[in-house]
Amino acid sequence: MSYSVRISKVCAQEVLDSRGNPTVEACVMLDDGTCASAIVPSGASTGKYEAYELRDGDEERFSGKGVLCACENVNSVISPLLEGMPLSQAAVDFRMIRRDGKLNKSNLGANAILAVSIAAAKAGAQSLHIPLYKYIGGINAVSLPVPMMNILNGGVHAKNSLDVQEVMIVPEGFDSFAEALRAGTEIYHTLGKILSEKGLSTSVGDEGGYAPMVDDLSAALEFLINAIEKAGYDTDSVKLAIDAASGEWYKEGRYVMPKSGAEYTSEELCSYWNDIRKKYPIVSVEDGLSEDDSEGWRHLTESMGHSSALVGDDLFVTDTKRLKDAVKQKIANAILIKPNQVGTLSETLEVMRLAKESGYRTIVSHRSGDTEDTTIADIAVGMNAGYIKCGAPARSERVAKYNRLLRIESQLGVAAVFGSDIY
Ligand code: PGA
Ligand code: ZN
Repeated sequence: MSYSVRISKVCAQEVLDSRGNPTVEACVMLDDGTCASAIVPSGASTGKYEAYELRDGDEERFSGKGVLCACENVNSVISPLLEGMPLSQAAVDFRMIRRDGKLNKSNLGANAILAVSIAAAKAGAQSLHIPLYKYIGGINAVSLPVPMMNILNGGVHAKNSLDVQEVMIVPEGFDSFAEALRAGTEIYHTLGKILSEKGLSTSVGDEGGYAPMVDDLSAALEFLINAIEKAGYDTDSVKLAIDAASGEWYKEGRYVMPKSGAEYTSEELCSYWNDIRKKYPIVSVEDGLSEDDSEGWRHLTESMGHSSALVGDDLFVTDTKRLKDAVKQKIANAILIKPNQVGTLSETLEVMRLAKESGYRTIVSHRSGDTEDTTIADIAVGMNAGYIKCGAPARSERVAKYNRLLRIESQLGVAAVFGSDIY
């Protein structure tokens, strides 16, 4: 889409994310007086092929995590580059990509570029007086995603005993997003009560899920099933999912779990996931193997691909080329979509289109360090993603996305469709 409106100015400032780390907020102003802003999130278990997050490295400020350089790049490089340009998402994004010149956007910083990219989309939507999901998806934007709610945290997101990073509930057997969210939230509260009755901690990890000291993954899954049943639901309508984030465990061709000390070869870990899936109502396993273990991924896809979503997060880093390679090699069958792994909205939407064409499921995702920005909710609806991963129904940066989806569902009214993978 292109408009007669033009960009008059772009600027940025340093703000904080949910972990209290600095991040970039950019604002795009148009010559019709529109002004829209966006804030980018930040991961902890980042994939090694992700686009470059530019940080100052000045240990005197925020332990080196400041983003003043990235903001300065917006103010003094990106703003003059875009000023006077007609607002067209692809043109804006590709002009920034060309100016950066590096595959991983390490000159200007993917955090600087993405903040401007998303702010430009919001400005476009605002200027046309339409919601962002409609701006992204037009009249096709009708599908509310199934929430994959991370209610028990482990891995690098929590200081507990669990090596697996996320244990999620997937309330998919409901008629609406609001009903699914209600079920997920009641289950989350019930889990809190169960843990507290057992004398376990109900303090939460980075994504709002509880982070108790549990023996192992099986124990965590049992707690979730117990919570589903005690809350009055069943595992026909509420399924389970995990994000192993196993790239964090991969050392010299073996998987060494840092907390439990357990060690697996790639084949052993594949068998472990197969066993777990047979025992529990698991519909999705994310990053079951490392992004550098393609042989293992092929094996895992052959053995489990027919029965579960095998989601590539660090494996794909929201990158079209990496997804194309995987499609050719028949690796995985679902992709996690994190705009800040690639650095522009246009590239994010491109990889989602390719995934749908290739029969891969799409799951739009937050980051463990997130903010009040709710753009991912609009991307999920705009692209009929099918699924969204934005943590537990606790902590405002997570709940903001759920609340945005509730509002979109109300706005769409009878046109809204829940949980349908529309390709
Ligand atoms: P991250 O975790 O944002 O720390 O990378 C989320 C995920 O791995 O899905
Ligand atoms: Zn992940």
